[in-house]
Amino acid sequence: MSMNRNISSQLFSKAKKVMPGGVNSPVRAFNAVGGDPLFIKSARGSRITDADGNEFVDYVGSWGPLIFGHAHPQIVSAITRQAQLGTSYGASTELEIQLAEKVVNAVPSIEVVRMVNSGTEAVMSALRLARGITGRDKIVKFEGCYHGHGDSLLVKAGSGLVSLGIPECPGIVSSLAEKTLNLPYNNIEQVRELFDKEGKEIAALIVEPIGGNMGVVPPKPGFLEALREVTQKAGALLIFDEVITGFRVSLGGAQKLYGVNPDITCMGKIIGGGLPVGAYGGSRDVMAHISPLGSVYQAGTLSGNPLAMAAGNEMLDLLSQDGTYQALEQKSQKLCEGLIQNVAALGIQAQFTRVGSMFSMFFTDQDIVDFETVKSCDTDFFKRYFNGLLEEGVYIAPSQFEAGFMSAVHTDEDISLTIEASRKALTAARG
Ligand SMILES: *Cc1c(COP(=O)(O)O)cnc(C)c1O
Repeated sequence: MSMNRNISSQLFSKAKKVMPGGVNSPVRAFNAVGGDPLFIKSARGSRITDADGNEFVDYVGSWGPLIFGHAHPQIVSAITRQAQLGTSYGASTELEIQLAEKVVNAVPSIEVVRMVNSGTEAVMSALRLARGITGRDKIVKFEGCYHGHGDSLLVKAGSGLVSLGIPECPGIVSSLAEKTLNLPYNNIEQVRELFDKEGKEIAALIVEPIGGNMGVVPPKPGFLEALREVTQKAGALLIFDEVITGFRVSLGGAQKLYGVNPDITCMGKIIGGGLPVGAYGGSRDVMAHISPLGSVYQAGTLSGNPLAMAAGNEMLDLLSQDGTYQALEQKSQKLCEGLIQNVAALGIQAQFTRVGSMFSMFFTDQDIVDFETVKSCDTDFFKRYFNGLLEEGVYIAPSQFEAGFMSAVHTDEDISLTIEASRKALTAARG
C-alpha cells in the first residue's frame, strides 16, 4: 500500500503556476529522485508532517540549521517574546552584541564578526573583503564545494547544480568566472602547483573544511594544515566556509575540531536558530577593512534582525550546554552503525562518511575523497532507496550529493525506526 501524498501533489501543481519549478530553492524539487516534493504543514522535534498528514523522521533539518530539531520550545519562545517588542528597527540592539560575543567566544579565529542574512551573502562579502585587502582578483575553490549562489563561486559548485545536472550556470560574466580556479578536493599537490605558478595573483582560497555539498567528504589528515601554509606563503587569505560545519561539528566549528585557523570564516544555517542569518568574521585587523571602519562596502536592511538574533542567541545557548556534542556523536554513530550493518548484511556496495552529526551513505565501491569519486555513485539506486525510505516514514535530502543531519532531539526510537526503514528500502532498491 502506497502512502497518500495527493495534497502535496495538488499544492505542487498550483505552485508551479506561480513559482519557477514550484519552489523557492531548486534543491527542494524532487528532480533527482522523481515524484512531487512534499509540502510541509508542521514540524516538531525530529518529525515533520506533510500536507496529507504523513509524519516523517527528518534528517534534512532544513538543510542543516535545525540541530535542536523543529520548533524547539526555548527558541520558539525567544522569537515570540521578541516579536512582541518589534520585528525590525533598522538600528542596533543589544541582541546583536550578545550573539556576536557568543560567536567570538566560540570560534577560535574570530575576533570581530558581521551579521548578514544568508550563507550566500556571507561568502560574497568575504570574497570582496579578501579581494579588497589583497588588491588581487583570483579565487581558488574546490570542485564539489558549494559556497552559495554568488557569481564568483557558481563554477563546478556541487549541491543543487550536480543534482540538477547543470555543468555551467549561464548568466555569469565570463571575465569574472575566469577569476575562479577550481581544484580537486583533498589534492594538496595540485594546490601547491597552482600557487607556485599564480600564488601572487590569488586573493583567497575558499574551502568547506569538511565537504558537505557533494555529500560529506572529510578532509584528509594534513590537508587543511597544508592549505593554511600555502596561502600564508603566497599572501593570500584562507577562507573557511563553515556555513554547515559552524556549530555543527563542535561549538567552534571545523577549525576548532582540526586546529587550523583561517583568516576569514563564513557562517550561516545553525547560527540563525532556524531564521535567516549569515555571518562572516576574522581578526580585528582583517575586519577593520569593512565599512564603516574601512572602505570595503557591505550593508543590509534586515542584517542583525532582532527576531533572527533572538533565535540565534537561544540556539547557541542550547548548544553550549554540557554534553550536547557527545550526545550528537553517540546518536549519529548509532545510526550509522545500523546502516552499515544493513548494507553489509544485504551485500550492497556503499561507502559511509561521517564527522560528528553530519553523514552520508554513497552507493559506490570507490573510496570517497573528492568530487570525482562521489560522482561514481549509482544515482538510480539512490533514487529507489530515497523513495523507499519516504514510504517507510524517513525523510532525507532528495539527492545522493547532500549530507544527512542528526539533531540533538532525535530519539532512540527514531534511530531504530530509521535503521529498520533503511533495511526495507535497501532491500526494495536492490530488487
Ligand atoms: C548552504 C551553504 C551556503 C549558502 O547558504 P544560503 O544561506 O543557502 O545562502 C554556503 N556555503 C555552504 C557550505 C553551504 O552549505
